Amino acid sequence: MNDRKKPTGDALRSYVIDNIDRAVDEGWIRVWYQPVVRTLTGEICGMEALARWEDPVYGLLNPDEFIPPLEQAKLIHKLDSCVIRQICRNYAGTMAKTKQTVAVSFNISRLDFALCDIHQVIEDAIRENKVPREAFRVEITESMMEAAETRLQEEIEHFWDRGLRVWMDDFGSGYSSLNVLKDYHFETLKIDMIFLSNFNARSQEIVKSVVDMAKRIGVHTLAEGVETKEQLEFLKSIGCEQAQGYFIGRPMPHRESHEYLKKHGFVLENPVKRQYYHDIGRINVLSATPMQFVRDNETESVYREGQIPLAMIEYANGDLRYLFANKSYMTTLEHLGIHALSQIEEEFKNPHSTLRGKFLAMILKAIETDSVQAIDFVRADSHCYAQVRRIAGFPGGDAFLCILQNLSEDRLIDKAAHLTDYLHSLCTIYDRIELIDMKTGMSQNLYRSAQTIRDYNQIPAQEELRLYAKEEIYPEDRDRFHAFADLETLEKRIDESDYHYVSAPFRTRIGSGTFIWTLYAFLYAGEPGERMILSCYRRLAPDVLKYARGMMRADLTSSGKNSENIFSPELLWKNFTLYSDTAFFWKDRSRRFVGANQQFLNYFGLESVSEIIGRTDEEIGWHVDPEPIRVDEERILSFGEQTFLVPGTVIRKGEIRGIIASKMPIYRDGEIVGLMGYFLDVTDLQEQGGSADALSRKDPLTGSLSLMGMVEAVLRFQDSFVFKGTDFAIMVFDIDHFHFFTQDYGREWCNHLLQEVSRRIRTATGTKDVTGRMNGDQFVIVRQFEDRKELDETVKKVIKKIESIREIDDIPCTIYMAGAYSVYSEVKNLQKMFSDAEEAVSAQKPHRNP
Ligand code: C2E
Ligand code: CA
Ligand code: CA
Repeated sequence: MNDRKKPTGDALRSYVIDNIDRAVDEGWIRVWYQPVVRTLTGEICGMEALARWEDPVYGLLNPDEFIPPLEQAKLIHKLDSCVIRQICRNYAGTMAKTKQTVAVSFNISRLDFALCDIHQVIEDAIRENKVPREAFRVEITESMMEAAETRLQEEIEHFWDRGLRVWMDDFGSGYSSLNVLKDYHFETLKIDMIFLSNFNARSQEIVKSVVDMAKRIGVHTLAEGVETKEQLEFLKSIGCEQAQGYFIGRPMPHRESHEYLKKHGFVLENPVKRQYYHDIGRINVLSATPMQFVRDNETESVYREGQIPLAMIEYANGDLRYLFANKSYMTTLEHLGIHALSQIEEEFKNPHSTLRGKFLAMILKAIETDSVQAIDFVRADSHCYAQVRRIAGFPGGDAFLCILQNLSEDRLIDKAAHLTDYLHSLCTIYDRIELIDMKTGMSQNLYRSAQTIRDYNQIPAQEELRLYAKEEIYPEDRDRFHAFADLETLEKRIDESDYHYVSAPFRTRIGSGTFIWTLYAFLYAGEPGERMILSCYRRLAPDVLKYARGMMRADLTSSGKNSENIFSPELLWKNFTLYSDTAFFWKDRSRRFVGANQQFLNYFGLESVSEIIGRTDEEIGWHVDPEPIRVDEERILSFGEQTFLVPGTVIRKGEIRGIIASKMPIYRDGEIVGLMGYFLDVTDLQEQGGSADALSRKDPLTGSLSLMGMVEAVLRFQDSFVFKGTDFAIMVFDIDHFHFFTQDYGREWCNHLLQEVSRRIRTATGTKDVTGRMNGDQFVIVRQFEDRKELDETVKKVIKKIESIREIDDIPCTIYMAGAYSVYSEVKNLQKMFSDAEEAVSAQKPHRNP
């Protein structure tokens, strides 16, 4: 190589033009890759594909040597098409080998639109290699907009329609403003390297304002030409999401680029987190009101970085970790005696930390309610106030924006200033504190931790307590609570108490189901004459429960047993279990049977209940698919949920039966100790109704036929072939690489995908089709037909419908589906018919190493 001197000027230009076809054919055009890093995490989130001409005679040519001549000669599309094909091949190769892929962006020329059908070129390359569309981004340079071709807007939309994101390259190198940008649909703005090449206060201000403005119009940002650590830190601090440049890595051949990343300890971003980081990236950390997500009505650009103590926190797999914290946040922590974020991360790892407990409760609440949540806590003698809001999530984790304020410094609670000292100590004890002004009968919240319930605004304190009891106190404890919280007598009771303090435990709701022993207290704030009373409560730790139970027992005996009734609950229950015609059962917390009624035993043909006691459904094995049942029951046991009339199947005496079941938690002293349920057999009901959709034959996930249902349908078709000569076919469809989806996106996401696939299959088929799901990702259509052409068409139509799925649960995805059919008259054997179709399907699938 390089044995001959490289020509220059015109000579090089003609050489390039004369040899471009050869260069493409003989593989001299090589794609090099330059890594792109996510500033928030330091993980590699993408690569830019950059063309190189590796000439066998003259050695390596750079783009500035071959791109301008190719553009002049109107041959640039040959290069670009070659590059696009190569990146798809490389991507498929990486998928097959390591499965560790990252998004790839590539450059196109304005001339490509005129010289070829660039959309088709891309689509063909993607399909040929079966690579996911969402992995690619098209870079369009700013200068392309200067040509002011209105068609450009359409071309951009066309890319989006085909599932490709479009980026604007070299922003700032020309003259276009962000105003112009608003009219085009770009996902990301690549900020030209010119700004960083001269890295000073002025250029920093410009980059800041570009990022700030880009976020307001909802465009993501990437800075090019990052050559130093300081530049990278700066970009992170202003919320510029991605960075590219020699500091991270130079462009390299495909193989080397992966080795380089490995060698330098870079982690590749998990693709499932792409959308998640995108959502986080929308947050404008420069905004004056970051929690509000306001973009449009922020009129001036305010750089308040350094004013609001702001951080981004990720909660995943039980761990909390900081993604970002601005200077002001760090200063606030300093004042609390915390010198590094890792100190807090460590504290969050300690399961006994009270701060961790409070914080977790707050963020769980923020997820549940999708609103800003706040807690107060005391740290280093300061009263602190933390607010969080969920900003993004991925299967397995969530990210939050967090504002931390030191109220002792801010003096925001001046109105309660005289109480502050007192309050500080109370706050560490109680979960919620209200101040009741007995003179006006109104109350005001002074403090709350996240677990506490909703506010009852602006109503008299007595009314508030009454409503509270109704909604939050365990029914059996309500009367006692009303007596305890009776404000008429309260002052008298406090005065008469030993320590000017009355308290009592009541079972109180947490979350949607469970009740927990909670201690309520009333005490004076200040002098009794001021008639200000603090109302506080806190959850009781399990060790004080014994004490609470003792109190309860005393309470019950004092109220006495009021049942003169001849039908005691015990008697009613005994009769119900013996003579009810509904089968019902009850289980303990670990889902093991504790008992069942006579009808239940009769239904399953059991001699005695001892055959099931102590065993789980899975151990007994009477469900075809026990998994959904287990999930439902865990929800009942953990969250106190109820399920009502849920269809399912059971195997009874060797026969599959359809049932509908209802289940509910069993409470003892406000705690969930087990569950009970009852069910009805609906198979007979369905058969009497003559419906082909008997519940027992339905796939509960997708609502189409289950394996069982399919077999029955096929048997019917076979009868009809024998007696009437009507031929039928089965079409089998299978999603490629379904196990990758399971790995990356988790079970729930995959369930949603399967539901969507099933829905689309049903809309693509006609009334004479029977559709079903066999196992996992395999779908089947059975149809009686006259002409094979309609079968070919249906297979194509279904595949097209499925492959046009672009996203599930807001996560972009590309589905490839294989489909084939076999015809009964050709094999006259059901077993063989199924296996033929399955084989034909797997023959279509790409064969890759796992
Ligand atoms: P570009 O799209 O702006 O690509 C970025 C260029 O900046 C690359 O030059 C890259 O090597 C260089 N670069 C990256 N990081 C740094 C850094 O930290 N410092 C400095 N000084 N430079 C950095 P390259 O590879 O020479 O490409 C030049 C241009 O050629 C590209 O600019 C792009 O406009 C064009 N180009 C490259 N490949 C293709 C292609 O396949 N098709 C078309 N149409 N144009 C291409
Ligand atoms: Ca580029
Ligand atoms: Ca660029």
